[in-house]
Amino acid sequence: MKEGLFISGRWKVCLMLRFGIATLFPDMCGSVLHYSILGRAQNQGLVSVEIHNIRDFTTDKHKRVDDMPYGGGRGMIIQADPVFRCYEFVRSKFPDKLRVVYLSPQGKTFNQRKALELSRFDGMVFLICGHYEGVDQRVLDEIVDEEISIGDYILTGGELSALVVVDAVVRLLPGVLASPDCFENESHFDGLLEYPQYTRPAVWRGRKVPEVLLSGNHSNIKSWQDRKSFEATLRKRPDILVNSF
Ligand code: SAM
Repeated sequence: MKEGLFISGRWKVCLMLRFGIATLFPDMCGSVLHYSILGRAQNQGLVSVEIHNIRDFTTDKHKRVDDMPYGGGRGMIIQADPVFRCYEFVRSKFPDKLRVVYLSPQGKTFNQRKALELSRFDGMVFLICGHYEGVDQRVLDEIVDEEISIGDYILTGGELSALVVVDAVVRLLPGVLASPDCFENESHFDGLLEYPQYTRPAVWRGRKVPEVLLSGNHSNIKSWQDRKSFEATLRKRPDILVNSF
């Protein structure tokens, strides 16, 4: 694992972010994590992602980790003990720098600001994925620092949510993308959406690329992009425009 990063001709001491994912479906997470930017970032030692199968932490001889809800109702609940044992295993390796997140539709909605905040954390972010009807509240009360939702809808499990968080955060880590420009100009970084983008050919089905982008005049291009970014936000997401003032 690298201790620092060579950026702009200098070594910088880097924070080392690690993720742990506690899940009942490890293969679901593993398959996504190997690809593209996420895969490269791990291969370069810029981030590490450990996957823990909650089932490995049960003492039940049949490897059972769920049971019926007290008080009745449909569905099953993940028991407190296997989740707690999994947490204890991770805490034994990262006693001081551990942040425990439960992916939950009841949490605060994830956004770019939260992604940036997590990308600056120097330690282990332990993401707990629920399934079925959720997780026994007692273990959540005992170990969870915060709950994160990826939107106001119900998913089958926390795995997709955990991967969304990991992907959004890893893009922001130093050295993962070619330069900070790559994400600083993207939608949501500064409360605006990105301007429209074009590539070759210059004319496609009679539609032309805006003249200014072919001009080579960088100052005019920048003004055009700023204006288009503002217009796109006003048209598509006026709510975020209001919130950024
Ligand atoms: N019974 C729970 C409720 O009504 O709040 C929902 C359980 S859901 C079917 C199973 C698991 O999926 C949750 O424990 C959580 O980990 C995950 N999950 C579902 N929707 C989510 C969302 N919008 N954001 C983050 N995680 C979610």
